[in-house]
Amino acid sequence: MIIGIDIGGTSTKLGLVDQGKVVARKSLPTTGHGSADAFTDALAEAAGQLATDNGQPATAIGIGAPNANQLTGIIEMAPNLPWKHDVQLARMLELRTGIPAVLGNDANAAALGEWRYGAGKGCKDLLMVTLGTGVGSGFIANGQLLLGSHGNAGELGHTTIVIDGRQCTCGRKGCLEAYVSIRGIRETYADLDGDPDLLREEGVLCIAKAAQQGDTAALQTFRHAARWLAVGLANAVAITGPERIVLFGGIARNGELLMAPLRERFRESLLNIYHGRVDLVASALPEDDAAILGAAALATL
Ligand SMILES: [Zn+2]
Repeated sequence: MIIGIDIGGTSTKLGLVDQGKVVARKSLPTTGHGSADAFTDALAEAAGQLATDNGQPATAIGIGAPNANQLTGIIEMAPNLPWKHDVQLARMLELRTGIPAVLGNDANAAALGEWRYGAGKGCKDLLMVTLGTGVGSGFIANGQLLLGSHGNAGELGHTTIVIDGRQCTCGRKGCLEAYVSIRGIRETYADLDGDPDLLREEGVLCIAKAAQQGDTAALQTFRHAARWLAVGLANAVAITGPERIVLFGGIARNGELLMAPLRERFRESLLNIYHGRVDLVASALPEDDAAILGAAALATL
C-alpha cells in the first residue's frame, strides 16, 4: 500500500494505492493553513487516517507537487502554492508519519503514472505531456525518468516555439505553454475575434463545444493549437526519440477536435527517420486518479 499525494494550487488529494488502483481517498485545502509547517501537520494527519481507516499500513508515500525537486525533496518557491520559500516537504512529512516519503515534480509524477499504470505501460522511451493551466511534461528515456543534473529536466512547456512571441508566465516570450495551455488557447480564440461571451466562461470547454457546433474561430483555434503543439512534440522527438507520446488533460480529451489535426501536423513536422515510429495517444487513466497514481509511482522508483 502506497499513499499518493497530489498537491495542487487549491486542493491537495490523497489516495491509498494498491496495485495501480486508488482504493480510498481524502482531500484537504492547500491554502489557509498559515504556514508550511501547519499544512504538513494537516497532511500527516490525513495520511495517517487514510491508512488507519482502511486497516492497511502504508509502506511509502509519494508526493507530486509543482516546482518539486526530486533530487532534494524540496518544493522550490512554487508560484502557484501558498509558500513563497523552499519547503522540505518530503523530510517534514517523514518526520511526522514515520513513513518514507518521496517528492517529485507533478509533471514527472504524471509521466510515471502513465508509464506504470496507463497508456505508456511497457514503453522504454516515453514522453508524457499534460495540457492544462500550464503545459507539463515528463520524459522516460532508456527506462528511466529523466531528471537532469539539477532535478528539473524535461520542461517542454517552456521551450520557445515562436521567437519574440507571446508573453509566458515564466517571464520569457514565445514558450509552447503560452500557445497550447488553457490560457494560450483562450488567447488564440480572442486573437481570432471569437465570441466574447464564450471568453467570459472559464476554461476551454465552451470553445471546444463551439468548435463542435461549427464556430469558425473555435475550429481555427484548435487547428492553430495543433500546429504549435505538433512542432513542439516533433522537436522533443528529435531529442529523446520516444516510442510513444501520451497527452493528458481536458484539452486532449475533447475527442478528435485536437487529436485529428495534431496527428496530421505531427506527421508533417516529424524528422523523416521517425515516421511511423512514434505513437501519439491520449491518456488511458481516469482523470481523477491520474495524479494520485503518478505520485504513488514516485514512491516505487
Ligand atoms: Zn515559459
